[in-house]
Amino acid sequence: MGHNFDTKAVHLALKGKNIDSKVTPIYQTTAFTFNDLEDLEGFYQGKKDYLYSRTGNPNTDELGQAVAQLEGAQNGVATSSGLSAILVGVLAVAKSGDHVLASTDIYGGTYQLLANELKDFSIEVTFEDFSDINKIEKHIKSNTKLIYSESITNPLLRVEDTKALAKLAKKHQIYSMIDNTFATPYLCQPYQDGVDLVVHSATKYLGGHSDATAGVLVGHEELIEKARARVVNLGTNLSPFEAWLTCRGIKTLSVRMERQASNAQALANALRNNKGVAKVYYPSNVSEKGNGAIVSIDITGRCDVNTFFQSLSWVQIVPTLAGVESTVSYPLATSHRALPKEAQDELGITEGLIRISVGIEAAGDIIEAFESAISASRTH
Ligand SMILES: *Cc1c(COP(=O)(O)O)cnc(C)c1O
Repeated sequence: MGHNFDTKAVHLALKGKNIDSKVTPIYQTTAFTFNDLEDLEGFYQGKKDYLYSRTGNPNTDELGQAVAQLEGAQNGVATSSGLSAILVGVLAVAKSGDHVLASTDIYGGTYQLLANELKDFSIEVTFEDFSDINKIEKHIKSNTKLIYSESITNPLLRVEDTKALAKLAKKHQIYSMIDNTFATPYLCQPYQDGVDLVVHSATKYLGGHSDATAGVLVGHEELIEKARARVVNLGTNLSPFEAWLTCRGIKTLSVRMERQASNAQALANALRNNKGVAKVYYPSNVSEKGNGAIVSIDITGRCDVNTFFQSLSWVQIVPTLAGVESTVSYPLATSHRALPKEAQDELGITEGLIRISVGIEAAGDIIEAFESAISASRTH
């Protein structure tokens, strides 16, 4: 380019022509270029896929499609976070005047979104105990559009009967939506059970390395297109780099989950035999491949909680989960802080409740770290 330095400096981008990279490149670009008006028109006629990254980008599309494939769903859309995926999922089926019936024991941030934010947009949300699926039918009203729950709940790890939930929704000609973050498609595939929309905080196991905040919603083509329109118009799109990191994480999802679930099982078994632990929450009925990698324990009345946290040597306190490192969190002060006290009590979010996200380390080292923290903090 025979121009001035200033012009050359602006136009030096090497376009990736004839470079066959082994992995998908990061399309870290806000927009896509066109050669002439015919080329531009080609986008609107479906001959070119991309125009502007908020409306579509190869990396975010790769993520949406990857998760749709793993869930066996028709299509998927990636979003800026798990919460925005939940938001666009709800808004794909509900509008002002509609009602959403949600389970009480859901992620704290989801509770805030549904209880506080949607209310201001005149979407009515009520929360009910979903532990007996037969008892929720009576809460379905004439304006109910959606039933919402989680495949494995947080932090007490109740396993939802997603087949029964989907069946109930279909009977009433309304939609069902499941947050599959804790189970991942490695263990559960709610779409295959008939659930209409499946949502993930990809920030957790899909990404798996605690370095990208992202969300994915998958489901039937028609609903995903509605959700995608919300993503585009509300601006809740994911950045190409976060999508790329998450796709990279997904490649090791199976081996991570296999190891993390077997470590979690070993830890749950060990802690069930530990007199310093009042209660161990770890499900047994998730999948034949394993029961997930979150173990919650209640040490109320047996250990001093702060001493316990101080004695955890290499296990760090982190208000998230699902990384390759074992970590602990304290639901009462973080994820479930916003819940009314009565709801906390009802759910069992006690002062001694600790949520453990089990990592990929050697099982013996994880067990040793928790057993020694418990013995160091025993009061009874
Ligand atoms: C973390 C989490 C969310 C929210 O996801 P973000 O990526 O933080 O927005 C929703 N549901 C569950 C079960 C989660 O663990």
